[in-house]
Amino acid sequence: MDWDKVTSNLEARGFAVVLCDTAAQAADFLAGAIHGKTVGFGGSMTLDRLGLFQRLSADNQCFWHWKTPGPETVAAAAASQVYVTSVNALAETGELINIDGGGNRISAAASAKEAVYYVVGRNKIAPDFDQALWRARNVASPLNARRLNRKTPCAQGKELKCYDCQSPERICNGLSVLWRKLSGTKTCTVVLVKEDLGY
Ligand code: SF4
Repeated sequence: MDWDKVTSNLEARGFAVVLCDTAAQAADFLAGAIHGKTVGFGGSMTLDRLGLFQRLSADNQCFWHWKTPGPETVAAAAASQVYVTSVNALAETGELINIDGGGNRISAAASAKEAVYYVVGRNKIAPDFDQALWRARNVASPLNARRLNRKTPCAQGKELKCYDCQSPERICNGLSVLWRKLSGTKTCTVVLVKEDLGY
């Protein structure tokens, strides 16, 4: 992985970049950067692994539907000052890719916020946009469907790939690509972690 290259490509697209050797360092950075805010969480195995909800709840008001399920939590997360989430794939060329079922994660992350943070493990980085999109569709989404035990070919079949199914339990309904930091977002920080995190 050429960390200098991915960092400079992200910065050229308007993203701030923080490079961390470990997940613990990433959690320390976020805990140091976010105080006294309302904080929304997107569904993310990465954030769960970091223990970030518990950590940030010490001095922020946090909303995560994985911890307190319900539409009120999703709405509060979307209206928060700060939003933290991950991506399904990041291209070394600097594009951020997410696929959503319900749309809460991509819509909340795209709303005007004081700050948005994307925490990205090294396993999610692909060399270019096409390979990142392939990864989001054929690796991240099927693994998420398996985690949720969906009745979809990617979750029930042997081969790990997207079948572009028409299942009622399909989890891939919307695609978000950030070519650059959205102009409605004050700051958007990509926290790169030199460890495998999430799917
Ligand atoms: S579109 Fe269907 S088969 Fe493809 S990853 Fe999503 S749920 Fe699985």
